[in-house]
Amino acid sequence: LLAHFSLIQRESGFINGLVCVFHDITLQQKIDDDRKQFVSNVSHELRTPLTSVHSYIEALQDGAWKDKDLAPKFLKVTQDETDRMTRMINDLLTLSRMDSGTQKYDTELVNMNKLFNYILDRFDMIIKTDDNPKKKYSIKRDFTKQDLWAEIDTDRFTQVIDNIMNNAIKYSPDGGVITCRIYEQKNRIIMSISDQGLGMPKKAIKHIFDRFYRVDKARSRAQGGSGLGLAISKEIVEAFGGHIWVDSVEGKGSTFYISLPNEPVEEDLWDEGEA
Ligand code: ADP
Repeated sequence: LLAHFSLIQRESGFINGLVCVFHDITLQQKIDDDRKQFVSNVSHELRTPLTSVHSYIEALQDGAWKDKDLAPKFLKVTQDETDRMTRMINDLLTLSRMDSGTQKYDTELVNMNKLFNYILDRFDMIIKTDDNPKKKYSIKRDFTKQDLWAEIDTDRFTQVIDNIMNNAIKYSPDGGVITCRIYEQKNRIIMSISDQGLGMPKKAIKHIFDRFYRVDKARSRAQGGSGLGLAISKEIVEAFGGHIWVDSVEGKGSTFYISLPNEPVEEDLWDEGEA
Protein backbone atom coordinates (compact mmCIF):
# COMPACT_ATOMS: atom_id res chain seq x y z
CA LEU A 1 0.00 0.00 0.00
CA LEU A 2 1.37 3.39 -1.00
CA ALA A 3 0.14 6.64 0.55
CA HIS A 4 0.47 10.07 -1.03
CA PHE A 5 -0.24 13.18 0.99
CA SER A 6 -0.97 16.65 -0.49
CA LEU A 7 -1.74 19.81 1.35
CA ILE A 8 -4.60 22.03 0.19
CA GLN A 9 -3.32 25.54 0.49
CA ARG A 10 -5.17 28.79 -0.18
CA GLU A 11 -3.60 31.68 -2.08
CA SER A 12 -3.27 33.42 1.25
CA GLY A 13 -1.04 30.58 2.34
CA PHE A 14 -3.59 29.31 4.82
CA ILE A 15 -3.72 25.53 4.91
CA ASN A 16 -7.27 24.27 5.12
CA GLY A 17 -7.08 20.67 4.03
CA LEU A 18 -5.14 17.53 3.56
CA VAL A 19 -5.76 14.95 0.87
CA CYS A 20 -4.50 11.46 1.37
CA VAL A 21 -4.62 8.98 -1.54
CA PHE A 22 -3.89 5.30 -1.01
CA HIS A 23 -2.59 3.25 -3.91
CA ASP A 24 -3.05 -0.47 -3.70
CA ILE A 25 -0.09 -2.19 -5.37
CA THR A 26 -2.09 -5.17 -6.40
CA LEU A 27 -0.90 -8.72 -6.55
CA GLN A 28 -1.29 -8.55 -10.33
CA GLN A 29 1.21 -5.69 -10.49
CA LYS A 30 3.70 -7.72 -8.45
CA ILE A 31 3.22 -10.75 -10.73
CA ASP A 32 3.75 -8.56 -13.82
CA ASP A 33 6.92 -7.05 -12.34
CA ASP A 34 8.25 -10.49 -11.40
CA ARG A 35 7.55 -11.77 -14.89
CA LYS A 36 9.36 -8.84 -16.52
CA GLN A 37 12.30 -9.31 -14.18
CA PHE A 38 12.35 -13.03 -14.98
CA VAL A 39 12.39 -12.52 -18.77
CA SER A 40 15.15 -9.95 -18.38
CA ASN A 41 17.16 -12.38 -16.21
CA VAL A 42 16.76 -15.24 -18.68
CA SER A 43 17.86 -13.05 -21.59
CA HIS A 44 20.87 -11.81 -19.71
CA GLU A 45 21.88 -15.26 -18.46
CA LEU A 46 21.76 -16.71 -21.97
CA ARG A 47 23.44 -13.77 -23.64
CA THR A 48 26.56 -14.05 -21.48
CA PRO A 49 27.54 -17.62 -22.53
CA LEU A 50 26.45 -16.95 -26.13
CA THR A 51 28.72 -13.92 -26.35
CA SER A 52 31.67 -15.90 -25.08
CA VAL A 53 30.96 -18.84 -27.46
CA HIS A 54 30.72 -16.33 -30.30
CA SER A 55 34.09 -14.75 -29.54
CA TYR A 56 35.88 -18.12 -29.22
CA ILE A 57 34.46 -19.30 -32.56
CA GLU A 58 35.53 -16.02 -34.14
CA ALA A 59 39.06 -16.47 -32.80
CA LEU A 60 39.14 -20.02 -34.19
CA GLN A 61 37.96 -18.76 -37.59
CA ASP A 62 40.63 -16.05 -37.52
CA GLY A 63 43.34 -18.69 -37.44
CA ALA A 64 43.42 -20.14 -33.91
CA TRP A 65 42.18 -23.44 -35.38
CA LYS A 66 45.72 -23.99 -36.74
CA ASP A 67 47.26 -23.61 -33.29
CA LYS A 68 47.63 -27.09 -31.76
CA ASP A 69 47.68 -25.77 -28.19
CA LEU A 70 45.01 -23.09 -28.40
CA ALA A 71 42.42 -24.79 -30.58
CA PRO A 72 41.51 -27.63 -28.13
CA LYS A 73 41.28 -25.10 -25.27
CA PHE A 74 38.96 -22.83 -27.21
CA LEU A 75 36.79 -25.77 -28.25
CA LYS A 76 36.59 -26.95 -24.65
CA VAL A 77 35.33 -23.53 -23.52
CA THR A 78 32.63 -23.47 -26.21
CA GLN A 79 31.57 -26.99 -25.22
CA ASP A 80 31.42 -26.11 -21.50
CA GLU A 81 29.41 -22.99 -22.23
CA THR A 82 26.89 -24.78 -24.46
CA ASP A 83 26.57 -27.52 -21.80
CA ARG A 84 25.83 -24.83 -19.24
CA MET A 85 23.17 -23.28 -21.48
CA THR A 86 21.56 -26.71 -21.93
CA ARG A 87 21.49 -27.20 -18.15
CA MET A 88 19.93 -23.78 -17.72
CA ILE A 89 17.23 -24.42 -20.34
CA ASN A 90 16.43 -27.79 -18.75
CA ASP A 91 16.13 -26.10 -15.34
CA LEU A 92 13.85 -23.43 -16.84
CA LEU A 93 11.63 -26.10 -18.41
CA THR A 94 11.39 -27.89 -15.07
CA LEU A 95 10.41 -24.64 -13.33
CA SER A 96 7.85 -23.90 -16.03
CA ARG A 97 6.24 -27.34 -15.50
CA MET A 98 6.18 -26.66 -11.76
CA ASP A 99 4.56 -23.24 -12.30
CA SER A 100 1.84 -24.66 -14.51
CA GLY A 101 1.25 -27.63 -12.21
CA THR A 102 2.12 -30.17 -14.91
CA GLN A 103 5.25 -31.51 -13.22
CA LYS A 104 4.61 -35.20 -12.47
CA TYR A 105 5.75 -36.70 -9.18
CA ASP A 106 6.14 -40.37 -8.30
CA THR A 107 5.15 -40.22 -4.66
CA GLU A 108 5.94 -43.15 -2.36
CA LEU A 109 6.57 -43.80 1.33
CA VAL A 110 10.34 -43.62 1.79
CA ASN A 111 12.67 -44.40 4.68
CA MET A 112 14.49 -41.07 4.86
CA ASN A 113 17.43 -42.30 6.97
CA LYS A 114 18.15 -44.93 4.33
CA LEU A 115 17.76 -42.53 1.42
CA PHE A 116 19.99 -39.89 3.04
CA ASN A 117 22.64 -42.57 3.79
CA TYR A 118 22.47 -43.84 0.23
CA ILE A 119 22.99 -40.35 -1.24
CA LEU A 120 25.88 -39.59 1.14
CA ASP A 121 27.52 -42.96 0.33
CA ARG A 122 27.69 -41.78 -3.27
CA PHE A 123 29.50 -38.59 -2.25
CA ASP A 124 31.88 -40.64 -0.05
CA MET A 125 32.56 -42.91 -3.00
CA ILE A 126 33.45 -39.93 -5.20
CA ILE A 127 36.11 -38.79 -2.69
CA LYS A 128 37.48 -42.33 -2.30
CA THR A 129 37.81 -43.02 -6.01
CA ASP A 130 39.08 -39.61 -7.10
CA ASP A 131 42.91 -39.87 -6.97
CA ASN A 132 43.45 -36.25 -7.76
CA PRO A 133 40.54 -34.29 -6.33
CA LYS A 134 40.38 -30.54 -6.83
CA LYS A 135 39.26 -30.22 -3.27
CA LYS A 136 39.18 -32.58 -0.28
CA TYR A 137 36.22 -32.77 2.04
CA SER A 138 34.81 -35.21 4.55
CA ILE A 139 31.25 -36.02 5.48
CA LYS A 140 30.14 -36.48 9.09
CA ARG A 141 26.78 -38.18 9.73
CA ASP A 142 24.74 -37.47 12.83
CA PHE A 143 21.64 -39.62 12.38
CA THR A 144 18.86 -40.54 14.77
CA LYS A 145 18.47 -44.31 15.26
CA GLN A 146 14.71 -43.95 14.87
CA ASP A 147 13.55 -44.76 11.32
CA LEU A 148 11.80 -41.74 9.79
CA TRP A 149 9.39 -42.06 6.87
CA ALA A 150 8.07 -39.47 4.43
CA GLU A 151 5.85 -39.40 1.34
CA ILE A 152 8.16 -38.09 -1.40
CA ASP A 153 9.37 -38.63 -4.95
CA THR A 154 12.75 -40.34 -4.45
CA ASP A 155 14.41 -39.09 -7.66
CA ARG A 156 13.30 -35.50 -7.22
CA PHE A 157 14.26 -35.47 -3.56
CA THR A 158 17.66 -36.94 -4.39
CA GLN A 159 18.09 -33.99 -6.76
CA VAL A 160 17.45 -31.59 -3.83
CA ILE A 161 20.03 -33.23 -1.54
CA ASP A 162 22.53 -33.51 -4.43
CA ASN A 163 22.15 -29.79 -5.09
CA ILE A 164 22.67 -28.79 -1.46
CA MET A 165 25.62 -31.20 -1.10
CA ASN A 166 27.24 -29.96 -4.31
CA ASN A 167 26.90 -26.36 -3.11
CA ALA A 168 28.31 -27.30 0.31
CA ILE A 169 31.35 -28.83 -1.43
CA LYS A 170 31.62 -25.95 -3.92
CA TYR A 171 31.65 -23.27 -1.22
CA SER A 172 33.75 -25.24 1.35
CA PRO A 173 37.42 -24.70 2.07
CA ASP A 174 39.85 -27.48 1.15
CA GLY A 175 39.59 -30.19 3.79
CA GLY A 176 36.25 -28.89 5.07
CA VAL A 177 33.86 -31.06 7.07
CA ILE A 178 30.24 -31.31 5.92
CA THR A 179 27.94 -32.39 8.71
CA CYS A 180 24.65 -34.10 7.81
CA ARG A 181 21.91 -34.64 10.34
CA ILE A 182 18.49 -36.24 10.40
CA TYR A 183 16.18 -36.16 13.42
CA GLU A 184 12.56 -35.83 14.42
CA GLN A 185 11.11 -32.66 15.91
CA LYS A 186 7.43 -32.03 16.70
CA ASN A 187 6.32 -34.74 14.32
CA ARG A 188 8.39 -33.41 11.46
CA ILE A 189 11.53 -34.84 9.94
CA ILE A 190 14.43 -32.39 9.94
CA MET A 191 17.40 -32.94 7.66
CA SER A 192 20.32 -30.54 7.74
CA ILE A 193 23.58 -30.07 5.86
CA SER A 194 26.23 -27.79 7.40
CA ASP A 195 29.41 -26.61 5.78
CA GLN A 196 32.41 -24.62 7.02
CA GLY A 197 32.48 -22.51 3.89
CA LEU A 198 32.06 -18.94 2.80
CA GLY A 199 28.68 -18.45 4.36
CA MET A 200 26.58 -15.58 3.05
CA PRO A 201 25.74 -12.02 4.06
CA LYS A 202 22.55 -11.52 6.09
CA LYS A 203 20.76 -9.67 3.29
CA ALA A 204 21.37 -12.59 0.90
CA ILE A 205 19.66 -15.14 3.13
CA LYS A 206 16.10 -14.11 2.23
CA HIS A 207 16.85 -14.20 -1.52
CA ILE A 208 18.84 -17.39 -1.72
CA PHE A 209 15.86 -19.43 -3.02
CA ASP A 210 14.89 -16.82 -5.65
CA ARG A 211 15.36 -17.69 -9.31
CA PHE A 212 18.76 -16.60 -10.63
CA TYR A 213 19.84 -15.13 -7.30
CA ARG A 214 23.54 -15.62 -6.60
CA VAL A 215 25.67 -14.01 -3.93
CA ASP A 216 28.62 -13.81 -6.28
CA LYS A 217 27.45 -14.02 -9.89
CA ALA A 218 30.91 -14.23 -11.47
CA ARG A 219 32.06 -16.96 -9.11
CA SER A 220 28.90 -19.03 -9.53
CA ARG A 221 29.03 -18.76 -13.34
CA ALA A 222 32.72 -19.70 -13.37
CA GLN A 223 31.74 -22.87 -11.51
CA GLY A 224 29.01 -23.69 -13.98
CA GLY A 225 26.12 -22.57 -11.75
CA SER A 226 22.82 -21.33 -13.12
CA GLY A 227 21.38 -19.82 -9.95
CA LEU A 228 18.28 -22.00 -10.39
CA GLY A 229 19.23 -25.03 -8.28
CA LEU A 230 17.87 -23.79 -4.97
CA ALA A 231 14.73 -22.31 -6.60
CA ILE A 232 13.93 -25.77 -8.00
CA SER A 233 14.80 -27.43 -4.68
CA LYS A 234 12.31 -25.17 -2.89
CA GLU A 235 9.51 -26.06 -5.35
CA ILE A 236 10.21 -29.78 -4.90
CA VAL A 237 10.35 -29.68 -1.10
CA GLU A 238 7.13 -27.63 -0.89
CA ALA A 239 5.34 -30.03 -3.26
CA PHE A 240 5.62 -32.63 -0.47
CA GLY A 241 4.45 -30.37 2.36
CA GLY A 242 8.00 -29.49 3.32
CA HIS A 243 9.98 -26.36 4.04
CA ILE A 244 13.54 -25.41 3.17
CA TRP A 245 15.57 -22.65 4.80
CA VAL A 246 19.11 -21.59 5.57
CA ASP A 247 21.12 -20.34 8.53
CA SER A 248 24.41 -18.76 7.64
CA VAL A 249 27.23 -16.72 9.12
CA GLU A 250 29.48 -14.96 6.66
CA GLY A 251 32.97 -16.39 6.78
CA LYS A 252 31.91 -19.27 9.07
CA GLY A 253 29.58 -21.45 7.01
CA SER A 254 25.99 -22.29 6.18
CA THR A 255 23.42 -24.84 7.29
CA PHE A 256 20.58 -25.79 4.96
CA TYR A 257 17.52 -27.31 6.60
CA ILE A 258 14.65 -29.31 5.13
CA SER A 259 11.60 -30.28 7.14
CA LEU A 260 9.00 -32.80 6.00
CA PRO A 261 5.84 -34.20 7.54
CA ASN A 262 6.74 -37.36 9.43
CA GLU A 263 4.57 -40.33 8.38
CA PRO A 264 4.96 -42.72 11.31
CA VAL A 265 4.93 -46.35 10.21
CA GLU A 266 3.36 -48.66 12.74
CA GLU A 267 6.21 -51.12 13.04
CA ASP A 268 4.22 -53.15 15.63
CA LEU A 269 1.66 -53.94 12.95
CA TRP A 270 4.34 -55.54 10.85
CA ASP A 271 5.59 -57.57 13.82
CA GLU A 272 2.06 -58.84 14.50
CA GLY A 273 1.67 -59.73 10.84
CA GLU A 274 4.77 -61.84 10.94
CA ALA A 275 3.82 -63.65 14.18
P1 ADP B 1 24.19 -21.97 -8.27
O1 ADP B 1 23.96 -22.72 -9.54
O2 ADP B 1 24.69 -20.57 -8.48
O3 ADP B 1 24.96 -22.75 -7.24
P2 ADP B 1 21.95 -22.27 -6.46
O4 ADP B 1 20.51 -21.91 -6.65
O5 ADP B 1 22.27 -23.68 -6.14
O6 ADP B 1 22.69 -21.78 -7.76
O7 ADP B 1 22.54 -21.34 -5.33
C1 ADP B 1 22.27 -19.96 -5.36
C2 ADP B 1 23.38 -19.17 -4.66
O8 ADP B 1 23.36 -19.43 -3.27
C3 ADP B 1 24.80 -19.53 -5.09
O9 ADP B 1 25.20 -18.87 -6.25
C4 ADP B 1 25.60 -19.08 -3.88
O10 ADP B 1 25.84 -17.69 -3.96
C5 ADP B 1 24.66 -19.31 -2.71
N1 ADP B 1 24.94 -20.58 -1.98
C6 ADP B 1 24.29 -21.75 -2.13
N2 ADP B 1 24.77 -22.68 -1.29
C7 ADP B 1 25.75 -22.07 -0.57
C8 ADP B 1 26.63 -22.51 0.48
N3 ADP B 1 26.60 -23.76 0.95
N4 ADP B 1 27.50 -21.59 0.98
C9 ADP B 1 27.53 -20.32 0.50
N5 ADP B 1 26.73 -19.85 -0.47
C10 ADP B 1 25.85 -20.72 -1.01
